[in-house]
Amino acid sequence: MQFTLMKESKEKRTNYEAAIIGAGPAGLTAAIYLSRARIDTVVFEKLIPGGLIASTDWIENYPGFPDGLSGGELGERMKRHSLRFGAKIEDIEVTGVALDSENISIKTAEGTYSASALIVASGTSPVRLNVSGEENFIGKGISFCAACDAPFFEGEDIVVVGAGSSGIQESLYLSKFARSIKIVEFLSHPTAEQILLDRIKDNDKIELLLFHKVIGFIGEDSLSGVEVESRETGEKKVLDVSGAFIYVGLSPNTGFLDGLLDVDPKEFIKTDPELRTSREGVFAAGDVRTTSLRQVATAVGDGALAAHKVIKYLEKKNEG
Ligand SMILES: Cc1cc2nc3c(=O)[nH]c(=O)nc-3n(C[C@H](O)[C@H](O)[C@H](O)COP(=O)(O)OP(=O)(O)OC[C@H]3O[C@@H](n4cnc5c(N)ncnc54)[C@H](O)[C@@H]3O)c2cc1C
Repeated sequence: MQFTLMKESKEKRTNYEAAIIGAGPAGLTAAIYLSRARIDTVVFEKLIPGGLIASTDWIENYPGFPDGLSGGELGERMKRHSLRFGAKIEDIEVTGVALDSENISIKTAEGTYSASALIVASGTSPVRLNVSGEENFIGKGISFCAACDAPFFEGEDIVVVGAGSSGIQESLYLSKFARSIKIVEFLSHPTAEQILLDRIKDNDKIELLLFHKVIGFIGEDSLSGVEVESRETGEKKVLDVSGAFIYVGLSPNTGFLDGLLDVDPKEFIKTDPELRTSREGVFAAGDVRTTSLRQVATAVGDGALAAHKVIKYLEKKNEG
């Protein structure tokens, strides 16, 4: 008897009522709602719970935190909240999803799991520039995460690529470390929120280089320069910097779905207003779906709605 118990406890559970791919704000919110409703729920996360906010220095527009809080802390709080109601978080990458009439199979490097309903909340990844030298210097001067890497650039001259809200917000944080920051923007105007643009006006470390495109990264063992070209005159020059942070957009993490769900031309998952996808029992929430605003507040709202719809779906399914 004792032996049997030990053996059982070592065996990995692979069958759940609901599965969630991605432990960002959308996935963790869905996990809170589902597990609190006593739905047996597993969340798969390939990196660290918290999602994109885990690599964001400061969040100041999420309701309930008037003084703001670090993205890392918000992610950790969401994780603890989902665990409190019994959700299981598996630190595994999902590599594929398959459907049959009864179940949804979720393929991972550590075997196949099954669930009666699935929420895809796999978010987005930073878009790369795809210019010469970029691949060589990732981790050797090029970064996509100021909160992770800013301290390496204490007293250095650096470039930030992209003058959208993410680029400007992260530049403000980087200016606590770097000696100077040139923000290179492809368009003739920055696209960030005005409140952020007002803040860089008062920051004498930050300079905007508008209507320029990055055409290459240069260096020996590590980055020593960023080559840019004026889109007005065609003039090329090299900015002598040891760091470059790239914020030029986000693309959806949908490769593992391998065409299973209908997506828009940019590969974001199409949903109806109730967050149903093109396949029965599969819902999508947060940044990974077609939507007009990608923020923590919208991801959290999606997570709650998707979980509610899963609960209703399972009730109907169980009624037979
Ligand atoms: C630089 C920057 C600053 C930002 N600042 C703010 C801000 O101040 N305020 C704000 O509201 N929003 C901000 N955002 C946006 C915010 O981070 C996102 O809107 C939010 O994180 C989206 O949550 P999500 O759960 O949909 O996706 P994500 O946070 O992207 O989480 C998705 C998760 O899924 C995991 N995953 C992906 N594929 C797989 C797989 N195959 N298997 C297992 N796991 C997988 C990922 O590792 C990730 O943890 C910022 C974003 C960036 C990039």
